[in-house]
Amino acid sequence: MNELAAKRNAVAELMRISPLADELAGLFARAGHRLYLVGGSVRDALLGRLSADLDFTTDARPGEVLKIVSGWGDGVWETGIEFGTVGVTKRGATLEITTFRADSYDRVGRNPEVTFGDTIEGDLLRRDFTVNAMAIDLSTKQFADPHGGLAAVRARVLDTPATPQESFADDPLRMLRAARFVSQLGFSPAPRVVAAMTEMAGELSRITAERVQAELSKLLLGPRPRPGLELMVDTGLADIVLPEVPGMRLAIDEHHQHKDVYQHSLTVLEQAIALERRDGWEPDIVLRLAALLHDIGKPDTRRLEPGGGVSFHHHEVVGAKMARKRLRALKYPKQVIEDVGQLVFLHLRFHGYGRGEWTDSAVRRYVTDAGESLERLHKLVRADCTTRNKRKAATLQRTYDDLEERIARIAVEEDLAKVRPDLDGNEIMKLLGLPPGPLVGKAWRHLKEIRLDRGPLTHDEAVEELYRWAEANGVEPPER
Ligand code: ATP
Ligand code: MG
Repeated sequence: MNELAAKRNAVAELMRISPLADELAGLFARAGHRLYLVGGSVRDALLGRLSADLDFTTDARPGEVLKIVSGWGDGVWETGIEFGTVGVTKRGATLEITTFRADSYDRVGRNPEVTFGDTIEGDLLRRDFTVNAMAIDLSTKQFADPHGGLAAVRARVLDTPATPQESFADDPLRMLRAARFVSQLGFSPAPRVVAAMTEMAGELSRITAERVQAELSKLLLGPRPRPGLELMVDTGLADIVLPEVPGMRLAIDEHHQHKDVYQHSLTVLEQAIALERRDGWEPDIVLRLAALLHDIGKPDTRRLEPGGGVSFHHHEVVGAKMARKRLRALKYPKQVIEDVGQLVFLHLRFHGYGRGEWTDSAVRRYVTDAGESLERLHKLVRADCTTRNKRKAATLQRTYDDLEERIARIAVEEDLAKVRPDLDGNEIMKLLGLPPGPLVGKAWRHLKEIRLDRGPLTHDEAVEELYRWAEANGVEPPER
């Protein structure tokens, strides 16, 4: 397909799937303003994977945008308004409308300072990557692509509209966004982008934890976090926001007694993702963080043993602490921090299971300690096997199957133990005119047995069964 046809297709595709965009454009036109689809929406349409979330840009100032959309949107929110963004929900879609940007960065602040501009060209120049710097004028259906974004989409390359040095000095978060798009889109950064990232990685330290966390999560939740994380580590970005990960690159000792913990962790992450997919899960940030961080306690606990071996005693305890600390610094929600910490803490316990030597109570404790994260723990432990020895790997998976079966069996037994008969003791005493005593217990157990055999009974059926039992056991009920 030639470029023009590709553009026409993209425009047509966008129009087809987003009558919302047209509707909204009509409102802006009536108010005397222009509205463009822009950024991720245009990029994703060209990739044939448009989501329900649409990004727009306009010459209208945020206050006017608010006036135009209120009354039309199902919901309107203003959390981003100081950065020029008004959010609208309409028929299940999320629309973000941002006023044209102009030069605005002080190059020291923690957030971009915002001034508004008057042209689409000026706005596109200030976007992070050329693949995100395309727009469609919704009133004329004109495609604006001043920086060769379409060609970059086709080459799957991330490059900046201006020089990467200028761009990253304006907003260092863009460096982390590059790594995020590597994971999310499978694109590669241009060599000059990698060079600038390597040179300027330290600048990321002035970005707020909240903005860093949002991009890091998108990176981890993307389909290919490994190359995204490798880019972070290779350029030095990870040293700033996630130093424990590059910290796992241990020198391999001369005996090759242990594998590189860093490479192992990336493989465990990939294997955990494969298990998520197998079970039809949505990408799970807790599992993915736990897979990436499960061994971060190893460098600090590494000891060369007298015989030549290497040990990492209690690395799961140290690692859980380190993981919590890092995730707190990145301002993750409390539940995420606790769940990841607990998974890191528990990831090794299964290795004490041997060939099934655990008592039932040890199995119960494993289940209780994992709590809501039990299914995640199953995946983490299974993923944490990167040996190339096929027999060893198969044995480990089989042993884990065995543990899961025991967990299921114990759960069934405990559920059964919780089963109550369909009449309680008081009712039994009343119906049979019995005082408290062993006979009541006998009747109760009889009803429970019936329930276990046949499942729940209706109240009338239970009463019938009780009278039948009474007759067989010489108990004379009062007047029926
Ligand atoms: P997705 O929504 O799929 O996560 P996106 O590309 O839409 O990806 P958003 O964070 O929603 O990413 O941003 C929307 C658009 O705003 C981007 O496509 C880009 O054009 C622009 N943008 C976002 N953040 C920055 C930034 N830090 N610097 C420059 N432009 C940015
Ligand atoms: Mg977006």
